[in-house]
Amino acid sequence: ISPREITEVYRERLEELDGKIGAFVDLNDEITPAGEGELAGIPVALKDNMATSNLSTGCASEILEDYQPPYDAAVVEKLKEAGAFLIGKTNMDEFAMGSTTEFSAQKVTRNPWNLDHVPGGSSGGSAAAVAAGFVPAALGSDTGGSIRQPAAFSGVVGLKPTYGLVSRYGLIAFASSLDQIGPLARNVEDAAILLNIISGHDKRDSTSADIDHPDYLKNLDRGVSNFTFGLPEGYLDLDIDNDVKQAVRDSIKALEKAGAEVIEVELPSLDQMLAAYYVIAPAEASSNLARYDGVQYGKRQEAEELEEMYFETRSLGFGPEVKRRIMLGTYALSAGYQDDLYKQALKVRTIIKEAYQEVFEKVDMLLTPTAPTPAFAVGEEQDPLDVYYTDVFTVPCNITGFPGISLPAGFNDEGLPLGVQLISSSFNEVELLQAASGLE
Ligand code: GLN
Repeated sequence: ISPREITEVYRERLEELDGKIGAFVDLNDEITPAGEGELAGIPVALKDNMATSNLSTGCASEILEDYQPPYDAAVVEKLKEAGAFLIGKTNMDEFAMGSTTEFSAQKVTRNPWNLDHVPGGSSGGSAAAVAAGFVPAALGSDTGGSIRQPAAFSGVVGLKPTYGLVSRYGLIAFASSLDQIGPLARNVEDAAILLNIISGHDKRDSTSADIDHPDYLKNLDRGVSNFTFGLPEGYLDLDIDNDVKQAVRDSIKALEKAGAEVIEVELPSLDQMLAAYYVIAPAEASSNLARYDGVQYGKRQEAEELEEMYFETRSLGFGPEVKRRIMLGTYALSAGYQDDLYKQALKVRTIIKEAYQEVFEKVDMLLTPTAPTPAFAVGEEQDPLDVYYTDVFTVPCNITGFPGISLPAGFNDEGLPLGVQLISSSFNEVELLQAASGLE
């Protein structure tokens, strides 16, 4: 079978079935003669916030509708070099803000396991594309859980690498100190293959880590018997879904059976981490999104006066969740409140990171739920603050920069996937993937 045939098989399946799922917002019509390289002919899907010079990059926002960047993101360059076929761009919550992909200005994406449910978000299109078998792997971005939560909701593997391991050059910014690109795949090995390709130093991203990355495949079959896992105290007493708790308990048993040690550890309060996230992320977002004023990018609303043009462009171009974040963030950064909100959140961030570092002197890895519940129903009315709360287990990795991986952990009675998460200290992906592979 030739690389081109592989591409065509996937492409046909996608065309036949994506009408039901809605994972993609733009497809690549040009089946490039697959080059050489490790991924020759392998289709990979990209979340629509990664710049592609041959496909639109609209971030699921009206304001960037049909925007066509003049260049490729660093990860796109790397995938092309490896011979991958970039099959299309996937749906997401507008500017990656959300947990269901329903904040997309484009369409609703459905969970392939149960079409009445969402695939999670914000990288819901990428998760659904992998779960539906349209692609063996996809890239997503994770600012507060947007790779790991949709992976859990869609029954696939999702990895948020250490902050700085993967270049953010060409990733449309949400919250620059938290954003990180990573793979979604059907198994740990495929995620490791993708990580090998996309990681590495890039001087065009000032926060890119200047390190040589190891081979992430090298320890996958070594098992977990040399690891101690930490279970954060109190997590299983929280008011969360019972099936999710059971999935964590089952993972503990599986780890112990495989020779690992599991002990309880004490971590900072989840409420504090969530509060810090929902100050820092909107603050950075409000600053990053200031550039969409109708002058340089996207759709402009013409008006007599310049100020009015800005106003109309932004009022019509941004959806409700993005506006909510801009208002929250502008408030947190405003002169009278900056010390109490933004600066306070940065201090909390430092304290949290120190607390985690102490815990990683005792254990190699943490085991937690990925999300408090399985996938929500499509169209479920939810208070924004309740939805924010569902990020509790994922935001710690973004606040600290640590890598986290979500693994499939069975299904509930309704056939909805469940997920568990492993977290390690920074740049420890070799061990994180080893542990994940042992638990898979
Ligand atoms: N649900 C989180 C939020 O809306 C996560 C977003 C993300 O990781 N991009 O902020």
